[in-house]
Amino acid sequence: MNILIIEDEKPLSDEIKKYLEQEGYSCDEAHTGRLASEKIFINTYDVVLLDLGLPDYDGIDLLKEMIKAKSDSAVIILSARTSLDDKIKGLDLGADDYLPKPFSLLELKSRILAVIRRRHGIKGNLVRINELDIDLDKRVALCRGKQLPLTRKEYDILVFLVLNKDRVVTRLQISEHIWGDIIEENYNSNYIDVHIKNLRKKISDESGADYLETVRGVGFRFNSVEE
Ligand code: CA
Repeated sequence: MNILIIEDEKPLSDEIKKYLEQEGYSCDEAHTGRLASEKIFINTYDVVLLDLGLPDYDGIDLLKEMIKAKSDSAVIILSARTSLDDKIKGLDLGADDYLPKPFSLLELKSRILAVIRRRHGIKGNLVRINELDIDLDKRVALCRGKQLPLTRKEYDILVFLVLNKDRVVTRLQISEHIWGDIIEENYNSNYIDVHIKNLRKKISDESGADYLETVRGVGFRFNSVEE
């Protein structure tokens, strides 16, 4: 999961970033509204954490820009503004959640998981598909009850494919989702193929089945099997 933190208080932003990265998220930061506005248009984020009080921008205007641009990101407003007006305005405009400051990082994490689940129509933190059980909170994947020895990237790719099951996802989408900023120097799409190959092997070693289909020239698809 790829998260943009829009927050002008650098220590808070850094604290959130550090915590979420430990939890396995890939994070990007914007300390001004102008930078945030640019990043939102260039990159694709699963979740945007939006502080309303920015030095150069009203966060509500950023939210309006995102909605106008038909952004797919889930938005969680983080705000010290306690006015009910702001909260209602934000949620009415299409923000997914509103977390008043100060908040605990643990609560932020659970709100993030909740908006991601809602986006994908998942009820709890456990996702069951074919012979796999994925615990989104603990970040583990089991196949027939046995934990798969996945690396962090393999796990992230698996979850992304599973959340988009039966749909083709492109290498670019995977790259944006897992590595965030696609302009990063370490971007190389062969890299993704290596991760996919390892992931496929780890799953099929355990299950004997191969659900991960390569769609030539396009990307990959995780095929669900009717039970
Ligand atoms: Ca602020």
